[in-house]
Amino acid sequence: MSGEGSCGKVVRYSDVEAQPLPEDMATGAFVRWLIAERDGARNFYMRLFEVKPGGHIKAHYHPWEHEIFVLEGGGEVRIGGRWHRVEAGHAIFIPPNVEHEYKASESGLKFICVIPARPTAEEAGQPVRCD
Ligand code: MN
Repeated sequence: MSGEGSCGKVVRYSDVEAQPLPEDMATGAFVRWLIAERDGARNFYMRLFEVKPGGHIKAHYHPWEHEIFVLEGGGEVRIGGRWHRVEAGHAIFIPPNVEHEYKASESGLKFICVIPARPTAEEAGQPVRCD
């Protein structure tokens, strides 16, 4: 859907399919695309991630940012060279091209992650260094 003629959407998150992240990217992690291009969204997409207890989203980077809000559970997030302990109520910003990864605690980790529809930085062969 192009967004042309979209009349909006209201959906309960649990009614959106939870898709497992591929094994080369993560273990025990699922994503639900709550608001996406198919809904007519033009600028931002909203995803809900659930990482099962002990699960892990592996290190990666890309030329767009993440704006994250932790809904439930907790764990650790690495942004560049620094690990941060996170729990429900924390907001997290991951800039474009900064390497990041997530590890869920024993209680799992559930968070909203908003991304732009288009990359927000130049494609880069190397991650931005953040110590
Ligand atoms: Mn990412």
